[in-house]
Amino acid sequence: MNEKSYNIAIVGAGAAGLSAAIAFARDGFSTVLVGSLDSRRDGRTVALLNGSVRFLEALGVWPSLVMEAAPLETMRIIDDTGSLFRPPPVAFSSREIDLDAFGWNIENATLVEKLAEAARSYERLTILPQQASDFRVKADRAVLTLADGSEIEADLVVAADGRNSRLRQIAGIEAQTWSYPQTAVTAILAHDREHREASTEFHTRHGPFTLVPLPGKRSSLVWVTSPKQAKRLGKLDDAALALEIERQAQSLLGAMRIDGPRGLVPMSGLSVTRFGEPRLALVGEAAHVFPPIGAQGLNLGFRDVASLRDAVVDGFDDGHEAGSDETLRQYQRSRDLDVRLRTAAVDGLNRTLLTGLLPADLLRGAGLLALSKVGFLRRAVMREGVLPHMGAPRLMQDARAA
Ligand SMILES: Cc1cc2nc3c(=O)[nH]c(=O)nc-3n(C[C@H](O)[C@H](O)[C@H](O)COP(=O)(O)OP(=O)(O)OC[C@H]3O[C@@H](n4cnc5c(N)ncnc54)[C@H](O)[C@@H]3O)c2cc1C
Repeated sequence: MNEKSYNIAIVGAGAAGLSAAIAFARDGFSTVLVGSLDSRRDGRTVALLNGSVRFLEALGVWPSLVMEAAPLETMRIIDDTGSLFRPPPVAFSSREIDLDAFGWNIENATLVEKLAEAARSYERLTILPQQASDFRVKADRAVLTLADGSEIEADLVVAADGRNSRLRQIAGIEAQTWSYPQTAVTAILAHDREHREASTEFHTRHGPFTLVPLPGKRSSLVWVTSPKQAKRLGKLDDAALALEIERQAQSLLGAMRIDGPRGLVPMSGLSVTRFGEPRLALVGEAAHVFPPIGAQGLNLGFRDVASLRDAVVDGFDDGHEAGSDETLRQYQRSRDLDVRLRTAAVDGLNRTLLTGLLPADLLRGAGLLALSKVGFLRRAVMREGVLPHMGAPRLMQDARAA
């Protein structure tokens, strides 16, 4: 191979792209990562569930992250819809499924910074900090054109270029997009009381209001509400917003203070008809976008990367190159059901909150009640939430996997 020719080229240096670059370089593939390594602090945090933590352990990155993250040992759900069928609060403990924590919450920008640090340390990983502007397939090789007009070749291109993925559009992979009549208010908060490693989700008529622990007496907020209310909250100064948050949280964590950037995120979703085609695989938000409910987005993104890595390694062992039809078919099979199920679950929960119709309330209330009372169901739901039972990728099953 010449110096501009690689086994794998990854486009996009967000968390999904960086983790893919590290995973492939670690397996000995000659790998190039195309994208700027600058991360913007936007106050977004990600709750990394147990499978994602194992994946980051396997990549050797977890020790640099753990001090910056807070464990989620308890998850509480409180129905604040005012519905006639209001179930009692439900709390899940990670001890019930023999885990120290369901997952860990960390600022997305910190995660990206630490992954970038790890990526820089790999010899077999070339980093080109620029944009990819075109993609084509030529004689069984993928060719990427970069912003400076230069070209690189690879057996497989991994599109980790986010929700507006240029590569997905160039490849003609259809994406279905939709929006919800909701906006998420996000903020990082300091508070008077200890969170005791518990996240709390209040289900309101406009969507979930969720507090997730960060190290110390700090938490992140995702408050899904109507666009009108979000606009009003967005105009408040920090002190007035903190007071509104404290009220909405029923003073569960005492007095609040805004302690980092705040944001407004319109709620939308995206799903694709297929996860790739010969020589191209989509991962992360290039392949699926969720509203920020139930901590699914990046956890699913890491499962894409770990599954693609398995498909490439297995294909390679069977004599197929990284971008072959066989490899991409295995990747498609491994992602289809998982992504579909999570998309439907997040969408369904969100819509039952929004309808305000009695049958929907009854269904949600009965579901929560069953979860609070039926032990085996609780444990099954908790396990499935942390990592799907079927077909978990190898790097998520055991940190010491090859
Ligand atoms: C408020 C909020 C809360 C969330 N909470 C959670 C949570 O608790 N748990 C969870 O799992 N997920 C959560 N998510 C989702 C999670 O943040 C995303 O899934 C994740 O950050 C997406 O990562 P990504 O790498 O796929 O995409 P991105 O982070 O968008 O990265 C894409 C990268 O590609 C680059 N790029 C784009 N085009 C090109 C190009 N042509 N050439 C080179 N580079 C390019 C971009 O600059 C960017 O760096 C949340 C999201 C929001 C909005």
